[in-house]
Amino acid sequence: SQAQSHAQRGSRTAVEVDEYSTNPTQAFTFYNINQGRFQPPHVHMVDPMPHDTPKPPGYTRFVCISDTHSRTDAIQMPYGDVFIHAGDFTELGLPSEVKKFNDWLALGGSSMRFFSQLLFLAGSQSALGGRWQPLKSLSMTVNAAREVGGTLPYDIKIVIAGNHELTFDQEFMADLIKQDFYYFPSASKLKPENYENVQSLLTNCIYLQDSEVTVRGFRIYGSPWQPWYYGWGFNLPRGQALLDKWNQIPDNTDILVTHCPPLGFLDWVPKKMQRVGCMELLNTVQRRVQPKLHVFGHIHEGYGMMTDGTTTFVNASACTVNFLPMNPPIVFDLPNPRTT
Ligand code: 5GP
Ligand code: MN
Ligand code: MN
Ligand code: MN
Repeated sequence: SQAQSHAQRGSRTAVEVDEYSTNPTQAFTFYNINQGRFQPPHVHMVDPMPHDTPKPPGYTRFVCISDTHSRTDAIQMPYGDVFIHAGDFTELGLPSEVKKFNDWLALGGSSMRFFSQLLFLAGSQSALGGRWQPLKSLSMTVNAAREVGGTLPYDIKIVIAGNHELTFDQEFMADLIKQDFYYFPSASKLKPENYENVQSLLTNCIYLQDSEVTVRGFRIYGSPWQPWYYGWGFNLPRGQALLDKWNQIPDNTDILVTHCPPLGFLDWVPKKMQRVGCMELLNTVQRRVQPKLHVFGHIHEGYGMMTDGTTTFVNASACTVNFLPMNPPIVFDLPNPRTT
């Protein structure tokens, strides 16, 4: 039925480098004028769902966040099943920052018990046909629970890196420590033994880097790469280099997590009057992979939610362009896949 639904949306083709790849603002204008590619009714903004919206039976709730940049202390987390962080969880990927982030992700026993008791209460209320009043207190309880245990009560937590996680990009670090002009002083001073195993500091989540995991029947793929911008981690030139990374995404991916946006979706940088999303990522998403959900961040100004009629796009940047963690996580419900 997966194949059938793809067939209904049109045939899937291998993606090639787009002729407008290197000029995304021009690409947006060209494809919008000549093909109406970013126009309603298919393409439109979506209002994020209030955090206390009841979850329908048989659905999984995804809690999407990105670009927290070591500023997690004041962030209020909503109720949900699967947590997804789309990269830039630190400023420089320093091991101390990664440890702090991993502590924030930690799941403590006491708060989890507290939390599941409330879930049970909320569930029985709905079974009796009552309104889901307890859910409001439930989302507040997540914060209360965090105060008890300092924890995030999600079944599954998925994390990718962004350009700020310098130490996760081993080739980048190998070059950086060779240079005598240090663009990133505190990261340049690290010794290989301090960052070589930095991934292993993330003990409280599933870390994806050009890799996938299936949870609750959902096939989830994560990738940190983005178009080159001032030589940070996981930077690649637009065109074939990025397309080679996107070509590793399996056809049947349900949920795609990248650090950067695709062209035309929540990728507008107002101060430059530029579209900066990746053309090859857009073509990969629309012409080949067609995931149900695409979560990203990177362009903080693009925080919000859109659809093209097939894929829901979420720019989950918690931080504003001034690096203040003001934007709430975005929650999204998907029907559980049928498993026979
Ligand atoms: P970050 O440094 O957290 O990756 O990105 C922070 C901000 O830098 C973004 O919100 C955006 O304003 C700017 N930025 C990041 N990547 C690009 C890019 O490729 N082009 C432009 N013009 N701005 C970018
Ligand atoms: Mn960022
Ligand atoms: Mn698909
Ligand atoms: Mn970024």
